[in-house]
Amino acid sequence: MLEVTDLHVQYGRLVALRGVSISVKEGEIACIVGPNGAGKSTTLLSISSVLQPTEGTITFDGQTVNGMRAEDVARMGISQVPEGRHIFTSLSVEENLQVGAAVRKDKGAIRKDMNRIFETFPILGERRNQPAGKLSGGEQQMLAIGRALMTNPRFMTIDEPSLGLAPKIVDRVYEVVTELREKQGLTLLIVEQSSERALKAADTLYVLRNGAIQLGGRPRTCRTARRSTRPISASRKTTRAR
Ligand code: ATP
Repeated sequence: MLEVTDLHVQYGRLVALRGVSISVKEGEIACIVGPNGAGKSTTLLSISSVLQPTEGTITFDGQTVNGMRAEDVARMGISQVPEGRHIFTSLSVEENLQVGAAVRKDKGAIRKDMNRIFETFPILGERRNQPAGKLSGGEQQMLAIGRALMTNPRFMTIDEPSLGLAPKIVDRVYEVVTELREKQGLTLLIVEQSSERALKAADTLYVLRNGAIQLGGRPRTCRTARRSTRPISASRKTTRAR
């Protein structure tokens, strides 16, 4: 479904990604884990076409994404939940969800999708008229996911969903993510700093460090490889997921 091949991205002279290649198959949950500054957000922003690579290609269902406008990428069915959620705190919960549907014109389907989000996240339905800033961190994360769902995506990226949340809330976020894959057939690419949660949820896991993929594959394979190669050698050849 998504193929990222030999991606290089720079911010001015700073090289953020140096030849990243990942593959995400339809219906799977793929995770990228890596420390601060590894290039995780840069990878996701490139997939959404917010950033343009200096080299490499990104294709979605065989169509080249890089070079497209970000709104056109959203129309193709790619949606993102940004790091830090970026919800509009003074707008109501429902208004935040409507922002997610801004690029759509199918009013009946928008209403149906909003009701489905209220079924998935009952707390959002209960508080639909309240300012989003009054929600807890976990509820705001649910709202950010709900807003991304309002674009009616087939593929969703989530940037550090665990950030600043208590372990119990993180469990709930991952339960929801798994449900979205199982019940709605959504394909997901999640990035995290900590590998613990990602290892449990991911069908395919990539380890990103210093702008390069160090390992990739089924989490069980990565777990074994990480144990036997700590610290992971920068010269290790990337293993692509099958
Ligand atoms: P974190 O876990 O802290 O979010 P990350 O893995 O998502 O980190 P990126 O945010 O992608 O990493 O950053 C990769 C590199 O690019 C880092 O060295 C960072 O300082 C740099 N960088 C990110 N955004 C910019 C920017 N707008 N301008 C200049 N450099 C940037």
